[in-house]
Amino acid sequence: MGIKIARVKLKPVGRLSRASVLIWRTVQLVTWLAGVAILFSLTFYPSIGLLAFWNVLIPAAPVLLVVFTGLWRNICPLATTTLLPRHLGLSGRKTVSQKKSGVFNFVAVIVLFVVVPLRHAIFNTNGLATAILIIGLTACGVAVGFVYEWKSAWCSGLCPIHPVEKLYGGNVIASVPNLHCDLCCNCVAPCPDSTHNIDPAHVTKSHPHRRSGPFFTGCLPGFIWGWFHVPDQRQIHSLYELVKVYEMPFLGMAVTFALYLILQKIVNHKYETYLTSFFAASAVSCYYWYRLPELFGFGHYSKDGLLVNLKDIVPAPAISSFAVAAVLFFFYWMLFREKNRKSWLVRPAFAKKSELKRQRTIV
Ligand code: SF4
Ligand code: SF4
Repeated sequence: MGIKIARVKLKPVGRLSRASVLIWRTVQLVTWLAGVAILFSLTFYPSIGLLAFWNVLIPAAPVLLVVFTGLWRNICPLATTTLLPRHLGLSGRKTVSQKKSGVFNFVAVIVLFVVVPLRHAIFNTNGLATAILIIGLTACGVAVGFVYEWKSAWCSGLCPIHPVEKLYGGNVIASVPNLHCDLCCNCVAPCPDSTHNIDPAHVTKSHPHRRSGPFFTGCLPGFIWGWFHVPDQRQIHSLYELVKVYEMPFLGMAVTFALYLILQKIVNHKYETYLTSFFAASAVSCYYWYRLPELFGFGHYSKDGLLVNLKDIVPAPAISSFAVAAVLFFFYWMLFREKNRKSWLVRPAFAKKSELKRQRTIV
């Protein structure tokens, strides 16, 4: 077995041993295959696919992003697919200008706020629609992967999950090696993977950056609160019904964004990063406060978001205690725990100038 491992030709990753690279690549492959299996089941066995995607993978994602963002960034099946053109040497390797990077960030925020309420309108209950959504996002990511260097356009820009990563991943448990970028070409600044204790509300590289970070930070807690006050619609029959799925999330957004702007004026400049952490902890706590009871049959709307019904087995206070424990954990982890100067990933060695010359730069 040991001899076989030694013979596998794997590109070096930082100072990782070949065995470690092999383990990482195996985990990447397994999660990628799991992603393909979910996509397949969404299309052909929708009840299984919907359960696996919306009621297992998605509820597990926020806590992983809070605790260990770098692990997710290394093994995310969507990232693995969108970075294939670069891994295979098929990318144009253009760099993204600061302004365009900021615009990409803003677009990601808008897409997230527009698409997530549509879960109630169609995606939560329609496997094929969810599969088409995933395929559409993957196609966009692969398309920009053919043009731009490493993660500059998708994983650090346009992916609608990226704003959540940046907001939640401000104090991760550990930095792990970057399993995608072999050499750092400085393709995005600040590189979210390589910046310790990233704070999206204080990225000031361009005008769109200065707008999108605070906007997302302020809006997310209210958006999540509002989202949980809309039931799943089995079918949408009119424009009015469609508008209704946006009403509560957007109302919640408006309230918490206004609160954020007021607090921003009041809070001393040196404590602003705690304001970001407070809103981030509020957002993820609000998510689990509603989502945990839903998963186990104690939600507001009977079968919405149900994973396994424990209503006749477990007393309601047990589930409430679980939700309270989750809230306490997130506030401790994100707000009160000392910032540990860890980035999601360890920045790889910088590429040599000759290597960088092969990039085509755009402004
Ligand atoms: S930015 Fe999107 S594609 Fe990239 S790792 Fe995060 S979720 Fe995956
Ligand atoms: S580590 Fe370097 S090459 Fe990779 S995304 Fe960050 S800036 Fe780009």
